[in-house]
Amino acid sequence: MSILPRRFERIKNVLNCRMKNLTVLVEAVNKPHNLSAILRTCDAAGVFEANFICERDEVKTFNSTAQGSQKWIKLNNHESIISAVSELKKRGFKLYGTTLSESSSDFKNFDYSENTCFVLGAEKWGLSDELISKVDESIFIPMTGMVQSLNVSVAASILLFEAIRQRQSKGLLPVNGEGLSPNEYRKTLFEWSYPELASIYRNSGTKYPKLNKFGEIDEVINN
Ligand code: SAM
Repeated sequence: MSILPRRFERIKNVLNCRMKNLTVLVEAVNKPHNLSAILRTCDAAGVFEANFICERDEVKTFNSTAQGSQKWIKLNNHESIISAVSELKKRGFKLYGTTLSESSSDFKNFDYSENTCFVLGAEKWGLSDELISKVDESIFIPMTGMVQSLNVSVAASILLFEAIRQRQSKGLLPVNGEGLSPNEYRKTLFEWSYPELASIYRNSGTKYPKLNKFGEIDEVINN
C-alpha cells in the first residue's frame, strides 16, 4: 500500500530542513520527560540526530511529552564519554559543554553556524568533570533569578534556537535537503514513509527500493 500524497509531501518538507551539522550530546539525563522535551525541541529545530551517553546500555523511554518526536530523530547511543567525544570530534563537531562554573563563557559569544554539538548534563549534578575536560568550549546561559539553573530541556531549546537564529541570518538553513547527504536523505525518506517495510528490508539485509515522485515504491529501478 502506498503512502498518501499529502503525508509524503509533509515528510519531504520536514526532511528538507533537517541538519546533520547541529546536534546535542546528553549525559546522564534520566528523567523521561526531560529527554522527551529535548527530542521534541530537536525535532522542532530541524536537528537530524541526537546523541546520548548510556554507559549501562539503558533503554531510553520517551513519554507523551515527546509527542512522537523520537520517531523523527535518529538516536545515537554511545557507550562511554570517550567513544562519544571521539566519534563526534572525528565527524568535525565542536563540542560546547554547558556548565555553570566561573570559567564558562556567555553562550552568545560564539558562532554556531558550523558543525555544533551542545553538551547537556544531568538534572542534579550537571556535566561530569571528565566530560567538561573534553569539550572545546564551556558555555552558560546568563540568568538573573534566585534559582541556580534552568531545566535541561529549556537550556537545550535556548541553545538550539540560537544556532538556528545565527544560521538563518547567514542564509545557512537547509530548505531543500542540503543538510543531509543524498544517500542519507533517500534512506531516511524511505524509513519515514514506510517504517515497517524499512525494518523488513533492514532485517533481510536488502537495500531499500527507490520511491517515485509520488512516494510510491518503484520496484523496477534497482539501487
Ligand atoms: N547543579 C547543576 C550544575 O551545576 O550544572 C545543575 C544542572 S542543570 C539542572 C541540568 C543541565 O541543564 C546542565 O547540566 C546544563 O546542561 C543545563 N543548564 C541548566 N542551566 C543552564 C544555564 N544557565 N546555562 C547552560 N546550561 C544550563
